[in-house]
Formats: sequence, C-alpha cells, structure tokens
Amino acid sequence: MSCIFCRIVAGEIPARRVYEDDDVLAFADLHPQAPVHILLIPKVHIESVAHAGPEHAAVLGQLLLAGAAVARQVGVADSGYRLVTNIGEDGGQSVFHLHVHVLAGRPMRWPPG
Ligand code: 5GP
Ligand code: ZN
Repeated sequence: MSCIFCRIVAGEIPARRVYEDDDVLAFADLHPQAPVHILLIPKVHIESVAHAGPEHAAVLGQLLLAGAAVARQVGVADSGYRLVTNIGEDGGQSVFHLHVHVLAGRPMRWPPG
C-alpha cells in the first residue's frame, strides 16, 4: 500500500490524531499553514472529490460534519475557520487521497493564492 494517507489510517505512519470514527480520520497537518491545520480524510481511498461517485455521497457529507465537529473540539467554531479540498494540479493537490483541510487561528485571505 503506497498511499501515504492510507498508511496513516493503517497506523503505519504516525500522525497526531484529533478525531476518528468508523469512516473518517482527522489528524494534524505535518506542515501547518495556520495555527490550526487539521486534515480530514475518508478511511476508504478516494483520490479526490473528482473521483467520488454516488456511493461516496454519505462519506462526503460525513467529512464536512466532522470538520465542524473538529472545529468545535479545538475551540475555533466561534472565531471561524475554513474547510477546503484541493483537486488536481491547478487545485494545488499534492496528496492524492481525498482530504479536507481545516484551517483556523488567523484570518483567512480571499481569494486564496
Ligand atoms: P494538498 O496539497 O494535497 O491539498 O494537501 C496535502 C497536505 O498533506 C499538505 O498540507 C501536507 O503538509 C500534508 N502532508 C503531506 N504528507 C503528510 C504526512 O505524512 N503527514 C501529515 N500529517 N501531513 C502530511
Ligand atoms: Zn489512500
């Protein structure tokens, strides 16, 4: 198994886990771009939102709900946060296992660079 995020799910690569349920795992980003930078991933391997099908509708919803739950858990629900998923080369995707970034702890710029 070569996907780095699948290996984190399997416990083969260490990560600071902040939330986990049957379908979703959240862990701290290795190179944080904000004071709070957490990644939410489905435990099942899906390359990106562009590769998801109708059978993944439930887990896609679970990722957003988990994002809101993690934001409450780490105390940024009131100050605000950003959930973002990068898709493909121009989207800035560098790991090809679908993930939602939770960014918080500073004002986010718009549009992103
Ligand atoms: P992308 O650029 O694909 O949207 O985001 C990938 C994210 O994964 C980056 O923010 C990067 O810092 C993070 N990342 C890459 N490899 C690892 C790793 O081995 N462990 C953790 N915790 N984060 C990683
Ligand atoms: Zn994977």
